[in-house]
Amino acid sequence: MKYLLVLAIVLIAVWLWRNNRRAEKQQPPVAKPPLASPQDMVRCPVCSVHLPRTDALPGPDGRLYCCQEHRLRGAS
Ligand SMILES: [Zn+2]
Repeated sequence: MKYLLVLAIVLIAVWLWRNNRRAEKQQPPVAKPPLASPQDMVRCPVCSVHLPRTDALPGPDGRLYCCQEHRLRGAS
């Protein structure tokens, strides 16, 4: 009977430990908020303004410009 009690305590301890580990494993994705990923910034070669790469206009020379006007001015 004494051994049964010890076995029960050990089983409960193992169960709690496994539960804890599962909770720790699940935490990292939850702790990471869906923050906007850092945007790649580029500099307009004409006016030196910094803007996100997604907003930049690629010129014929491969450089990125802030607007159509600077794209034309920079390419000429
Ligand atoms: Zn510009």
